[in-house]
Amino acid sequence: MSKDDTITSKDGLSKDFPLGEENVNYAKWFTGTSYLAGLGDPQLGTSNVTFEPGCRNWWHIHHKGGQVLICIAGRGWYQEEGKPAQELHPGDVVSIPPEVKHWHGAAKDSWFQHIALSVPAEGASAEWVEPVTDEQYASVEK
Ligand code: MN
Repeated sequence: MSKDDTITSKDGLSKDFPLGEENVNYAKWFTGTSYLAGLGDPQLGTSNVTFEPGCRNWWHIHHKGGQVLICIAGRGWYQEEGKPAQELHPGDVVSIPPEVKHWHGAAKDSWFQHIALSVPAEGASAEWVEPVTDEQYASVEK
């Protein structure tokens, strides 16, 4: 896929990984609708996350253990606080260090899927800080 390609329906999402269920357990820390499919042993903390267009999670921090994102479909964004947002496409891999405030999600006009792996660590946890405002989100596309 080229950088300009977008996915406007679920038809373009991965056929190789499950979509899973609507991500109701984390919905309060997401803006928009997302879907979650656990992959492998639940204790490994590995899942396929699907974001509808415009959906993103809150600013958050992975304490102690970080997180790895492996992008598999669509177009999305990753941003660390104080840095420009990074546009994401299938094949991109993002290594998120522990204690770094960030968010990730879909582009406004595209579905987006990434596999998320939690890096195991003693006492690892996630802290959900605050929503990405509409103004912050709109600014990444410019
Ligand atoms: Mn994260």
